Amino acid sequence: MARTILVRTAAVAVLAAALAGADPAVAGRVPGGPTAVGYGGAVATVDAEATRVGLEVLREGGNAVDAAIAAAAALGVTEPFSAGIGGGGFLLYYDARTGRVHTIDGRESAPASMTATSFIDPATGAPYAFQEARVSGLSVGVPGTVATWERALRDFGTISLADALRPASTVARKGFPVDATFRTQVADNAAAFGQFSSTSALFLPGGAPPAVGSTFRNPDLARTYDLIGQRGAGAFYRGPVARDIVTTVTDPPVADTPIGTWAYPIRPATLTVRDLAGYAVREPAPTRVGYRGYQVHGMATPSSGGQAVGEALNILERADLPRELALHGYLEASALAFADRNRYVGDGTPRALLNELLSDRFAAERACLIDPGGALPKPVAPGVPDGAYGGCAAATATEPELAGQSTTNLTVADRWGNVVEYTLTIEQIGGNGMVVPGRGFLLNNELTDFNFAPTQGDAADPNLPAAGKRPRSSMAPTIVTRAGRPVLAVGTPGGSTIITTVLQILVNRLDLGMSLPEAIAAPRATQRNTATIPAEPAFDRAALEGLGHVFTTMTEIGAATGIELLPDGRVVAAAEPVRRGAGTAGVVRPAGVVP
Ligand code: GLU
Repeated sequence: MARTILVRTAAVAVLAAALAGADPAVAGRVPGGPTAVGYGGAVATVDAEATRVGLEVLREGGNAVDAAIAAAAALGVTEPFSAGIGGGGFLLYYDARTGRVHTIDGRESAPASMTATSFIDPATGAPYAFQEARVSGLSVGVPGTVATWERALRDFGTISLADALRPASTVARKGFPVDATFRTQVADNAAAFGQFSSTSALFLPGGAPPAVGSTFRNPDLARTYDLIGQRGAGAFYRGPVARDIVTTVTDPPVADTPIGTWAYPIRPATLTVRDLAGYAVREPAPTRVGYRGYQVHGMATPSSGGQAVGEALNILERADLPRELALHGYLEASALAFADRNRYVGDGTPRALLNELLSDRFAAERACLIDPGGALPKPVAPGVPDGAYGGCAAATATEPELAGQSTTNLTVADRWGNVVEYTLTIEQIGGNGMVVPGRGFLLNNELTDFNFAPTQGDAADPNLPAAGKRPRSSMAPTIVTRAGRPVLAVGTPGGSTIITTVLQILVNRLDLGMSLPEAIAAPRATQRNTATIPAEPAFDRAALEGLGHVFTTMTEIGAATGIELLPDGRVVAAAEPVRRGAGTAGVVRPAGVVP
């Protein structure tokens, strides 16, 4: 997020001093800016503090998982509106020792009380308005982040949960300066936050968003981190913290005197201590597709990230368009993959069906729809992944969906060649708006990622709510290997635009020959099977408009981070140079100039 490198701590001040007087043209190329290159491991996040924490762990001998969890915990402090222990996420890990890619699905799960009609207002028979569902108990899934951190460290890390949480706890206790992004995120949420005594006490001191430059402290969160560090994830999923989460959902902490007005009733929901105690992460096999000699590993369901990115790459490879049509192919393959995602992908999609969607033969059938001479009418119809492939399928309409703007992403590599790509979220910026009283963190509204009502006409909707089910995600942490060795890792926030942003970065890097920093910086467009294509103002649309693509303007899409392992042994770490106020990349031992 927009965190300036004019910094919060002595350690980062050293970096700032190194930067002072640097040529502004190359300032972004030294550690502390959005790109870095060198040896010994690397970290890229949206936030200078989190990158600093991750690099410190690497310098002290920790591995990529240790650094990733410590950095994620720091993001829970400094980016509390995008991620934190009230939410969930998906982590991919390349293990250099075995050459295998592992995943952790820490997605929030629906409570046992949830049904297919939980988001239908019984009074009207119509779905709740999004904000009505969001700022309520109904939207809160059982958080998966603490369980993710514990599992990642237990299975792949070398330090304790206590050690991983300590730097973040220190930041929460000592505080950090509020920047413009932090203040804006509170201001944008002031009406929701102002309804709750706990949230206004933390984020609306004196009734208003904290001033830019003031020090923000969160001692409640520091204590919660310390408790989890001392007693393990069980201290979150059972006992007083779990009970406080349950109370917040079942009896929201509505203020006696709210600040501002909110248009909707604040609805409670039924979440129980059993729901919390029963939470477990899953470790599904990653999705995997071959692409132009690379292996692309992604996240399986309940995320659609691995399916949609992987299927689109397969389609692109089969379409085999000339270089000048690469972006045309990118837009068309995205639309086709989204049609299939919407029809077939949700929590519980059989693995055999997921494998069909990712098969080369299915991709060939989808690719034959792409016309090099012009854009297909949108929306395109889903295909039929039934194993019997041949002709091109005809088109009918499917439902588009909204883009989110929350979430955060981080990428870490260590000196042994292990790589972590981790996307975590509380869904909307500000989650469901409720801070758990006395605990210092916001709850997620992840269950609003379910479809509130069926979207697929006569066909089954794979993403309707149900007890214990996890809402479909678009998060797409991605690791690319070649001959078993990692070459690239990338991920981003951005709701369903996550899929297209990851895909576009891969196309930019692997097909268009851009460096990773260029691939991340390049202007973006997002075709999610809709008639018009949101695109950033600088996206070059002229040639594509000539092919019949129709664009609208979206100011900013995504906030990616990534890492590339160069053949000479160096690592390039890259974050956004501009979007969301720029991110921060760093390496343990800088060497050379970012390519
Ligand atoms: N909840 C979204 C998902 O899982 C992410 C939200 C966002 O990035 O804005 O796909």
